[in-house]
Amino acid sequence: MKVSLIASTRLEGGLSRDVIYELGLPFNGLETDAERLIEFAGRLCYKSFHRPRPETAKTDDYIKNIIAQGHESVLEHASASFHVSGVSRNMLLELERHRHLSFSVISQRFVDSSTAALVCPPALEAHKHDMVEIEPGGFAEIDELLNESEEVMSNVYQVLVKFLQDKGYGRKQAREAARSVLPGGIETEFVVSGNLRAWRDVLKKRYSKHADAEICEFAGEVLQRLRDIAEPVFTDFPDQPFD
Ligand SMILES: Cc1cc2nc3c(=O)[nH]c(=O)nc-3n(C[C@H](O)[C@H](O)[C@H](O)COP(=O)(O)OP(=O)(O)OC[C@H]3O[C@@H](n4cnc5c(N)ncnc54)[C@H](O)[C@@H]3O)c2cc1C
Repeated sequence: MKVSLIASTRLEGGLSRDVIYELGLPFNGLETDAERLIEFAGRLCYKSFHRPRPETAKTDDYIKNIIAQGHESVLEHASASFHVSGVSRNMLLELERHRHLSFSVISQRFVDSSTAALVCPPALEAHKHDMVEIEPGGFAEIDELLNESEEVMSNVYQVLVKFLQDKGYGRKQAREAARSVLPGGIETEFVVSGNLRAWRDVLKKRYSKHADAEICEFAGEVLQRLRDIAEPVFTDFPDQPFD
């Protein structure tokens, strides 16, 4: 699984250092752009730029308080985009259920899938070299079985694409029909974007011991990178998946 942060909120001139000072927001220089934007938007609601309350005078305390108060809409101004590869279509199917995330996914109709790999789920990854009985007295390594299914899948897929192209179907039509033999475990690649409120909601549901192991691992990767963008927004998240 590869999860790369490819974009996140950056402040522009309208909220430059000069403007911030003019408003009386004495940032200490350690806040990220996302944190500054969230605080600016939150304080704008009450015109409280001069930080009247000592307990929320610091940016991280201010943001934690906003979350505690349930005023989470201000988190929607900051966002993060990830490039994700080496994950299964099964995982993507679950992630796509989150309606506030935006996706661009590699197309199985346009792109050849004959060399796509099967993603080994975490439970099998841990036992890759175990032997399993496949027939009375006959054993195979788990890894070997997975490689075998990958090979069968790829061969059948290629045979079907060629068969349909020989029948006069275009490449896109042949691939869209042949993909019916590709399993949910096949790898996919996508860009996913969300604002920080949406990411918090996704992580609450998916960074959990009760979630699918692959999506839980994905959520852990995302959480790590989101902490770099706006640590106070994710302070209430544990370092290990929720129980
Ligand atoms: C452990 C686990 C097991 C699951 N098992 C299954 C399963 O067996 N079958 C299955 O089909 N799904 C399953 N799901 C998926 C689940 O049903 C949700 O589709 C998914 O978690 C997205 O969450 P959501 O719908 O709450 O929020 P999102 O789409 O991420 O939206 C976030 C929030 O926005 C609000 N919202 C969004 N849309 C609406 C709306 N139309 N109306 C009102 N409020 C809205 C809600 O407050 C929602 O919680 C499972 C999820 C988890 C975490």
